Amino acid sequence: MNKDNGKDNLDLTSKVYKMIIERGKDGIYQSELWRALGLTSRDGSRLAIRLEKRGLIKREKVLDKGRWTYKLTPLKLPIQMESIERCPCITCEYEAKCAPNGSVTPFTCDSLINWVIQEYEEVMKNEEQITSKD
Ligand code: SF4
Repeated sequence: MNKDNGKDNLDLTSKVYKMIIERGKDGIYQSELWRALGLTSRDGSRLAIRLEKRGLIKREKVLDKGRWTYKLTPLKLPIQMESIERCPCITCEYEAKCAPNGSVTPFTCDSLINWVIQEYEEVMKNEEQITSKD
């Protein structure tokens, strides 16, 4: 894979994840998502499986208008979209290799851990500000 293809894939993965997040708990049908992004179902499925493997979304087989498809829902909803935009996975050069049981794994990723801590601290700071106004 050349560098440009890798970047295109990351941009696409980011777009797919954003669209799933935007639908919230209702989720989005896989076919609807691919149509909106002009992807083939094969390429789209690959992206969804990647997000599922990283524990970011749930991919559930459902019957829609008599046809089997997958419904994609986010496993965790971010508090703000800016939070997701800062997620290191979105632009990570190792994302294609990253999996829970892979040699590169979210369980030991410093970038991911630092991002989670940073986001947590920001949420706590905002909550403190809200509480102090009461
Ligand atoms: S290596 Fe870390 S930053 Fe990269 S995709 Fe995996 S968890 Fe995300």
